[in-house]
Amino acid sequence: DKQITEPKDFDIESIRPPADPKKYKLANATIIALVRNNEASSIGKTIRRFEKKFNDKFHYPYTFLNDEPFTDAFKSRIAKYTDAPMEFVTVGPEFWKKPSFIDETRQKVEMDKLQAQNIAYATMESYHNMCRFYSGMFYNLPELQKYKYYWRIEPNVNFYTDIKYDVFKYLQGTGKKYGFTINLYDIHETVVSLWPETLRFLNLGNNYKYVNKNGAFQWLLEPHQNPKKNSDTGGYSTCHFWSNFEIADMDFYRSEAYNEWFKHLDRSGGFYYERWGDAPVHSLGLSLFADKKDIHWFRDIGYFHDPYFNCPKSENTKLCSAGRFSRWDHLNDQNCMSSWIDYSIDDLDKIY
Ligand code: GDP
Ligand code: MN
Repeated sequence: DKQITEPKDFDIESIRPPADPKKYKLANATIIALVRNNEASSIGKTIRRFEKKFNDKFHYPYTFLNDEPFTDAFKSRIAKYTDAPMEFVTVGPEFWKKPSFIDETRQKVEMDKLQAQNIAYATMESYHNMCRFYSGMFYNLPELQKYKYYWRIEPNVNFYTDIKYDVFKYLQGTGKKYGFTINLYDIHETVVSLWPETLRFLNLGNNYKYVNKNGAFQWLLEPHQNPKKNSDTGGYSTCHFWSNFEIADMDFYRSEAYNEWFKHLDRSGGFYYERWGDAPVHSLGLSLFADKKDIHWFRDIGYFHDPYFNCPKSENTKLCSAGRFSRWDHLNDQNCMSSWIDYSIDDLDKIY
């Protein structure tokens, strides 16, 4: 019984691909990818697919990020995949390294425990740095200050559908702040204190003023079919927007609400004493501080990051069969999209 509606005052025809990309007035946006020097060919694969399905119609600039300087070999290799402008950014240690207040003894004890439970990347510190960087730091990089919107891509992902409109101008024209394709339950052991720490933050001073009265609270706290999940995480369902795909407005993260909350989370040490991902952090922030109608499911964009898909019914249904979610059937119960649809969408946006 969901109605399909057109966002108010929004003309999709005004954001169709231009006849000549060289004369096109771009939105204030960049494609971002955090990658290592040894990932040139895997990010290259992504770029080739991404250009074909979207960016060769628009020529949005790329910003490549790395905690080490990109090599000339990387740069010249990447240049072969696209004519779009590109910038190569070395992420400074102040954005990347573990803060000095982290207690390394405690970190080791906690990570050995997670490792013993076979939690991926538990003892890999660079992974924790990456999650913290994407949770709370990247949008403050000097090189990203000139941009409002970003689309995050990763090595070895795939795009299945022709995207026939400018997604950045879609966000701009509708005033939406965040777009995703996949909704997933997390490994609850990695986010045990994320929600309790968030509640602690909200209970400090006047911080409840930051909460949006039309937030996605039910989605956030939906009882999981396995009740242990909610009790281990203080009530958080662990459902999150899978952040390897994101098209979003960095001004949301640059807001006082998000930044104060992130600073609180960071001080608590959970990026190193637990393994908080940037996906649940973005998701909690959005569901508390944004209006749920400003969070958009790009259900029309066919997308794959191993092992999950967003597969709309489309002209490319053969490549990624319509409605398919996982590469392995036994992972299907990790899909929490139905919860997002039930609790957070009043009207399904039209697909263009
Ligand atoms: P997963 O999808 O959670 O398994 O994580 P990934 O290994 O795909 O990492 C997420 C993104 O961060 C990818 O784009 C990686 O290339 C990038 N990344 C992860 N760790 C590092 C790192 O230490 N240095 C750099 N430069 N990039 C990293
Ligand atoms: Mn990945």
